[in-house]
Amino acid sequence: MVDTIVKIDKEQKRVETATGQYDYDWLVIDTGCDIVPTEIDGMMDGWRKDIFDFYTLEGAVELRKKLKYFDSGKVVLNIAELPYKCPIAPLELVFMADWFFTVNGVRDKVEIEFVTPLDNVFTKPVAAQILAQFAAKKNIKVTPLFDLAQVNAKEKTIESHKGEKVGYDLLVAIPTNMGDKTIIDSELGDPLGFIPTDNHTLKKIWNR
Ligand SMILES: Cc1cc2nc3c(=O)[nH]c(=O)nc-3n(C[C@H](O)[C@H](O)[C@H](O)COP(=O)(O)OP(=O)(O)OC[C@H]3O[C@@H](n4cnc5c(N)ncnc54)[C@H](O)[C@@H]3O)c2cc1C
Repeated sequence: MVDTIVKIDKEQKRVETATGQYDYDWLVIDTGCDIVPTEIDGMMDGWRKDIFDFYTLEGAVELRKKLKYFDSGKVVLNIAELPYKCPIAPLELVFMADWFFTVNGVRDKVEIEFVTPLDNVFTKPVAAQILAQFAAKKNIKVTPLFDLAQVNAKEKTIESHKGEKVGYDLLVAIPTNMGDKTIIDSELGDPLGFIPTDNHTLKKIWNR
């Protein structure tokens, strides 16, 4: 049955959908999370013009079209904030971009910069150290601890809360990740729509 969940009533133990309602004793929630570019000031001004995502199918298809004819300039990959799904995916993108521009014969005319709020390229320290060496070897600049405040699509810069600026010709963005609106509307999660759970059981923690 494919349906849209509109509300979870935790008191009545009932899921309300677009076409009906379902009572439950136990509920498994797996509505995932999605990127929300509208959460970033200025991002929509350049959305799908010079700013692309690859966390959605449509975004990946549009980015592919843009990359196909990109033969010089600066590609910036930016992770807006934590948490975001699949911590390695942004790094995979820049490594694949390095390969793609190399086989297209334009790598010497394309700069690649990886701009992240983390203190290194990845969340796990041992892997991060090795992956950072790979990035250096592939001439991918890494800018850590960059806390994105806004995008200036006219100037083609991203700006941090501290006032640092990074210019781009093509911005590949991992905007704010948020849980489904239903979680927020049903008052089950935090303001980003994520549900606090026990690490071992994944049961919701009710007193947070
Ligand atoms: C680019 C990229 C690369 C990745 N690579 C890897 C990898 O190599 N290995 C790995 O393990 N993970 C990877 N991941 C992460 C992985 O895709 C996610 O962790 C996984 O998909 C999460 O599964 P989920 O079921 O929790 O959520 P989702 O896959 O997001 O599924 C949630 C589903 O719920 C539906 N839904 C949401 N709200 C409603 C509603 N109100 N009513 C009805 N339906 C609703 C959505 O439409 C969606 O179909 C990657 C992610 C990305 C973005």
